[in-house]
Amino acid sequence: MENSYIQMAEQALLHTYNRYQIVLEKGEGVYLYDSEGKQYLDFAAGIAVCSLGYGHPRYKEALKRQIDRLTHTSNLFYSIPTAKAAQSLKEAAQMDRVFFTNSGTEAIEGALKAARKYAYTKGSGKYEFIAMNHSFHGRSMGAVAVTGTDKYRTPFEPLIGGVKFAEFNDLESVKAQITDKTCAIILEPIQGEGGIYPATAEFLSGLRKLCDAHDILLIFDEIQCGMGRCGSMFAWQGYGVKPDILTMAKAIGNGVPVGAFAMTEKVAESSLAPGDHGTTYGGNPFVCAAVEEVLQIFKEEHILEHVQEVSAYMEEKLEQLVLESACIEARRGKGLMQGLVLTKPVGDVIRAAMEEGLIVISAGGNVLRLVPPLTIEKCHVDEMVEKLKKVLNK
Ligand SMILES: *Cc1c(COP(=O)(O)O)cnc(C)c1O
Repeated sequence: MENSYIQMAEQALLHTYNRYQIVLEKGEGVYLYDSEGKQYLDFAAGIAVCSLGYGHPRYKEALKRQIDRLTHTSNLFYSIPTAKAAQSLKEAAQMDRVFFTNSGTEAIEGALKAARKYAYTKGSGKYEFIAMNHSFHGRSMGAVAVTGTDKYRTPFEPLIGGVKFAEFNDLESVKAQITDKTCAIILEPIQGEGGIYPATAEFLSGLRKLCDAHDILLIFDEIQCGMGRCGSMFAWQGYGVKPDILTMAKAIGNGVPVGAFAMTEKVAESSLAPGDHGTTYGGNPFVCAAVEEVLQIFKEEHILEHVQEVSAYMEEKLEQLVLESACIEARRGKGLMQGLVLTKPVGDVIRAAMEEGLIVISAGGNVLRLVPPLTIEKCHVDEMVEKLKKVLNK
């Protein structure tokens, strides 16, 4: 049965993914089940999206309620869920203005446009972006232009101009790229796809000072590392270095397609104005009902405290695993965004883990990426480690 759906998909879908030969059918808590009933412990969360796991009762109810009322209005009107979600998200992110998008890449496009518009309004003549090597910001043309990995860029050139690249965690290399035309610096506080590299606190605070000194906007892409994954609501709060523009997506809707970019009032008052930017679906009542419920659940179920506790336990267990296993070179990460640098090909390990009933994914540089639902308990960490040990010792 499984095979016939795989065939159907392969004949109809554009072949842009080499998918695992599994048809996922349902989820419960932190477990997924395929169409043959096999159970998987999920340490991927649909790429850091399903932070509350699967089938959270309050989340499901909120979505059902909103479907019965109204799912879409366009942004020509107001809606109650959109107003509430914007208010809650700006509080959680400690930003002043929010724009909802349908995806992460669109949040990046919006952030880049906002930065260019800010420079334009100020009449500064600035337009250049500095981005980081090994960054990942999405697949649309603007996002690809600031993504520092050649294989994502080369087939699509020429990309938007005025982008320079610097070395992550190397302040001097950023300084070397600054000109009187630099309008913004964009980076992920913890690089995800590039291989789970957390920024150092000195790097981020150094960037903040550079930006302040040269009237450059600092853009943090927290599409993957934000929304509680690193133990604070947004990673910047853990570092204490506030960006001017913040991008979010993945976990903010726990699985409905929604992203956002947010900015401080200082940026907003000189940036995008009526007519400059828009979206038909973005922030519709359905997805915003999800965002609002997710943010309420975070508060009421003390998700951040839980992440801090369970991630400390996971780090300890992973450190042990690094010591015990010859196939792991190192561990990197923050909170529940962890990477293991492997000496065996990571693809082989992932496939063997799936056989064992554990879903994990990869990141750049032969890294095994662990981004589980934030609701995992210590027993799930133990189960993951047991399964991984079996696979690595094979
Ligand atoms: C996933 C991701 C994106 C792109 O998000 P999409 O929703 O796939 O467009 C951008 N930046 C980072 C850091 C990401 O992890």
